[in-house]
Amino acid sequence: MPIKILPDEVASQIAAGEVVERASSVVKELLENTIDAGATRISIRVLDAGKRLIEVSDDGKGINRSELELAVTRHATSKLTCSDDLFHIRTLGFRGEALASMGSVSRMTMTSHNSQETSGSKIVVEGGKIVSIETTGVPIGTVVSVNDLFYNTPARLKFLKRDQTERQQIETLVTRYALAYPHLALQLEMDGKQTFRSTGNGDRREILAKLYGFEIARGLLEVTFEDDNIKITGFISPISVTRSNRKEITFFVNGRWIQDIGLATALVRAYQTYLMVGRYPISLLNIELEPEEVDVNVHPAKAEVRFKQPDVLFSMVQRAVKRALLAYSPVPQMNPAQWQTNISSHQPEPAWINARLNWEAEKHTDKIQPSFDPLTDINNTEPSTDGIEQSHIPLLRLVGQIGATYLVAEGPDGLYLIDQHAAHERVLFEKMSQHSQAIISQALLHPEVVQFSPQSSRLISESLEILNRYGFVVEEFGLNTYRIAAIPVLFSNGNVQAALRCIVEDFEEDETPLQGMLAEKLIARICKRMAVKGGQTLSAQEQSALLSDLEKCNSPRTCPHGRPTMIHLSVDLLERQFGRRGARSM
Ligand code: ADP
Ligand code: MG
Repeated sequence: MPIKILPDEVASQIAAGEVVERASSVVKELLENTIDAGATRISIRVLDAGKRLIEVSDDGKGINRSELELAVTRHATSKLTCSDDLFHIRTLGFRGEALASMGSVSRMTMTSHNSQETSGSKIVVEGGKIVSIETTGVPIGTVVSVNDLFYNTPARLKFLKRDQTERQQIETLVTRYALAYPHLALQLEMDGKQTFRSTGNGDRREILAKLYGFEIARGLLEVTFEDDNIKITGFISPISVTRSNRKEITFFVNGRWIQDIGLATALVRAYQTYLMVGRYPISLLNIELEPEEVDVNVHPAKAEVRFKQPDVLFSMVQRAVKRALLAYSPVPQMNPAQWQTNISSHQPEPAWINARLNWEAEKHTDKIQPSFDPLTDINNTEPSTDGIEQSHIPLLRLVGQIGATYLVAEGPDGLYLIDQHAAHERVLFEKMSQHSQAIISQALLHPEVVQFSPQSSRLISESLEILNRYGFVVEEFGLNTYRIAAIPVLFSNGNVQAALRCIVEDFEEDETPLQGMLAEKLIARICKRMAVKGGQTLSAQEQSALLSDLEKCNSPRTCPHGRPTMIHLSVDLLERQFGRRGARSM
């Protein structure tokens, strides 16, 4: 094919692709424009995960009628005049591309009223062509409606992820901005339902509570750090609150949400060895530095920036974070199960850190395990001497509890060490699954009202039926709020609220919506949360009840997640370990 200059329409669609990749990019650009326009109240309305409509209204300074057409023209901006300005940027926008890009891949309407004019005006753009401009009566401020996004670029439309994912992206974006700009009153409505709202009173913790729940929000640590040319503020999670991915690590640089692996690595390193491998903190840090210190013009969507002195910045971030972590001195919680950690970690750690890690280990025992993996080791390497059947266990005689974590029992074929948490999980799980038709529900004396983040809330509302089927009477009780009226009798002495919260948080991390999820998996999670924990002293009666319940299980040797519930030390093994076997055969 000969070389040809692309028609304008094609060229602008190509350029648009860099700026407007998905619905959340539209929301981001529009939101940034409202902030640049000095707005304080911003409403965002989304229909069909942004495919049908994204509408952002603000009370900012508005646009003059004479400039309306320019605003939607590519490379037209009020934020930059000469190339030198590029190195002192204080606004979020500067490329003059966003409105033009949106206009070329949607049917876009913008109405705006500048305070210096007596009336407002409205412009309609379709597939990059201006359809009309007219005068209209509207309040001061701007409303941009992006309809039928990607209607003229079907290939792009196909690349959108599931609606659920797109909605989540939008929610994440809006909530992050709310946190970075706590003085803005932001409101997000999706398909007619308000899913997030910040009051704009400047209280970050109030917003954090909406996102993570009161308990986590209360525990988040404040970061305030100031040096000659840099200011770092925000919050980080204590070492006891972690996530399985980096998604909750957020950086704003000079008011701009950016992605930067270097910064994220610096942050995680500041936690040193306090975090287990594969666990990440929750954080949002606002970094303010001289505009000359950052090049913001490296990415069409402005999602990445380049720092003049990255190493200096990274070490500042580390210092800021370490300082915040140290300022917070956790109460030592000695846990007798501590030896478990020591086996796998090589450097000794202060006791409280071990205690914390152990607490964490409870949730993720797969990560920290004794180097000798009991059941598998014994069964796999010496099947002939043990001959243990995988299924039932023999009748056991309870000896007692050690370390408030394990039960010790004797069987005809040796010694059994039973992990009380794993065992209880198994017992609860089988009881729940066997009686699924007739789970007895017990009404709570004081129904609990729990507030969730918008994401969690959706997961809960999608799983109300499953929860009900298993004896949890949970009902909607206002915005992102649920009322737990009854729970299965089986769980009557556990912390229901914490359990429900943990369950959805786990699901969020996995990005697995509860809907269509095997009820069994849900039940397994609930059982995990409700089971007695390691470090909990059990009465003799409780110990023997647990043991006899375990004996009755169909698969007593593993917890519902597949970890062993017990270590079996056979008579044979003991004899060999003590050198008795040789003696006997003499
Ligand atoms: P940029 O933000 O990079 O300048 P945009 O295409 O996003 O480019 O916007 C073009 C221009 O339109 C902006 O420079 C600004 O003058 C004006 N504008 C856009 N959105 C708003 C708004 N919500 N309120 C006031 N002016 C706006
Ligand atoms: Mg802009």
